[in-house]
Amino acid sequence: VDDERKPKGGVAAWAPRVMPGIGRDLSPRQALAIALRHLDDTGFCENLTGHITWQLSGEETLLVNPWGLWWSEVTASDILTIDELGTVLDGPWDVTPAFHIHTELHRQRPDARVVVHNHPIHATVLAGLGVLPEIIHQNSAMFADELVFVNEYDGEVDSASAGAALAARMGDASVAVLASHGVVVVAATIEEATYKSVMFERMCDIHYRAMLTGRSPIPIAPEHLKPMKASLLERAAQAYWDGAVRQLLAVEPAVLN
Ligand SMILES: [Zn+2]
Repeated sequence: VDDERKPKGGVAAWAPRVMPGIGRDLSPRQALAIALRHLDDTGFCENLTGHITWQLSGEETLLVNPWGLWWSEVTASDILTIDELGTVLDGPWDVTPAFHIHTELHRQRPDARVVVHNHPIHATVLAGLGVLPEIIHQNSAMFADELVFVNEYDGEVDSASAGAALAARMGDASVAVLASHGVVVVAATIEEATYKSVMFERMCDIHYRAMLTGRSPIPIAPEHLKPMKASLLERAAQAYWDGAVRQLLAVEPAVLN
């Protein structure tokens, strides 16, 4: 097969001439507050648990959501700046030691600028069964070679050493399913982190529903996975984010405050 006929995917195959965009600039705190609320809207949260941390490039500090506010009610001014020990450097609230799930990933991995952790229902069911979801739908191709199951439950991750152990077990995977616990998603940007989090929970939902039928899914030929993954991450992640921002700001403009 010559190069012309090989599947390419991504922006090499097609890139939009024009995009609707969001029509304004967002500060990192505003973008993080929007990501929190949007993920809650999609059912990613177990009530008030979990964090999104964001280490801006060149910074040693992290942006993080505070303890005591649900993801659905966070505004930009609630977002904290913390150091690696969890000391609050800026912002009105406090943070739980559970942020240590995130710190070592930020420290060790250049691609881990944004780390998302929560207990979305379908991923958490699979976490309890000791199951990694399979690629049953084409959009799950974005997770080809990206998943790991971390099956040593050590109780609450609430210290730097527990966070380091988790990061070591995660290796270079971008999504970890934590046994009897939940999920960790790592990404280079807030756009990609949001999109991957939503799509991973959907992947787990599809896998779970397929399991219920007792039938075996049709496999997707391996050569289609890489081009599809490129299309989803290079093209769809930004469009997804832009649409999520537009729709959230239309009904919850106070998220920017
Ligand atoms: Zn957790």
